[in-house]
Amino acid sequence: MTQNFHIALIPGDGIGQEVTPAALDVLDVVCKKHDLNFTYDEFDWSCERYLREGSMMPADGIDRLRDHDAIFLGAVGRPEVPDHLSLWGLLIPIRRRFHQYVNLRPIKVFDGVESPLRGAVPGEVDFIVVRENVEGEYSEIGGRHNLGLPEEMAVQEAVFTRGGITRIVDYAFELAAHRKGRLTSATKSNGIVHTMPFWDEIVRERAVEFPGVRWNQEHIDALCAKIVLHPGRFDVIVGSNLFGDILSDLAAAVAGSIGIAPAGNINPSREFPSMFEPVHGSAPDIAGRGIANPLGAIWAAAMMLEHLGLPAAASDITDAMAAVLAKTDLRTPDLGGTATTAEFTAKLVEYLR
Ligand code: ATP
Ligand code: MG
Repeated sequence: MTQNFHIALIPGDGIGQEVTPAALDVLDVVCKKHDLNFTYDEFDWSCERYLREGSMMPADGIDRLRDHDAIFLGAVGRPEVPDHLSLWGLLIPIRRRFHQYVNLRPIKVFDGVESPLRGAVPGEVDFIVVRENVEGEYSEIGGRHNLGLPEEMAVQEAVFTRGGITRIVDYAFELAAHRKGRLTSATKSNGIVHTMPFWDEIVRERAVEFPGVRWNQEHIDALCAKIVLHPGRFDVIVGSNLFGDILSDLAAAVAGSIGIAPAGNINPSREFPSMFEPVHGSAPDIAGRGIANPLGAIWAAAMMLEHLGLPAAASDITDAMAAVLAKTDLRTPDLGGTATTAEFTAKLVEYLR
């Protein structure tokens, strides 16, 4: 029996508009194979819209997304629009209103892709960063002050709640229990003396509930060094909003190109839609040339299928990605090749058929 899914599509700006159609081409083939019917509502929310109409999305934007099974986002960003406007005008409201408190970023060194690191062996490097996505360091609390003191100052507060830490830590332990059974918690409790010890304490408490998972904690600075030196040793890494953000870009670079990396903004209760996107931005330097690597978007589509309860369809996509990279020389320029987005996508589609 055909299963129906209704997806909200936000291609966004720059290469977001080039990689989104690539992901849809791949989804089309997989849907036919697995008897799935995906329908799409497309929204032109973007920095382009911001420049035209003064906002990234309409005032009722969130409500218009609510009834979809998932949201697929290309990328938003324009050189003329400050990054914080696109972030706070679209991404953060969606993450917060839909309780997408988990940001999942899988990292894999594929056979046939060269990592900048000598120690990053294909097949060995396969881990996932679980980033807290709605609280922590990214808060509006604080301000700029000029109290008549000789120095101007700025204060930025980080907000960590017991419930917020507990749910992200539980999610990470649960995920580790279903993978290789290893969890690393990113901390900095030697320097950040209130929030990080609170984080560490909750990780220790929750660990008791997951006796099958071996866990440890690492200070963020040392952890960054270890990811560079021994990327094959990790399974699941859990971090706060800021630490998770930094770790996932570092890890994406380890995997060979930011163009490969996907992200899922997950609402684990499934009360609201989750959102899937490539990690990269709008890449204005290559936009319009048809040479963007579509793999990040395509892998994000696979994560979306997985979240929708379609693991066989999801692994069809990731298997095809691995096979095309391992068995052909076809590469977009970011991976050292000369293929266009369309050529690479066509090869994947051919393989999937
Ligand atoms: P934004 O402001 O939207 O974040 P950005 O340029 O700051 O854009 P990215 O879009 O992530 O950040 O781009 C960083 C670099 O990586 C750029 O040189 C870009 O061309 C390159 N890049 C990003 N994504 C891809 C991709 N899918 N394929 C090829 N190169 C990419
Ligand atoms: Mg940027």
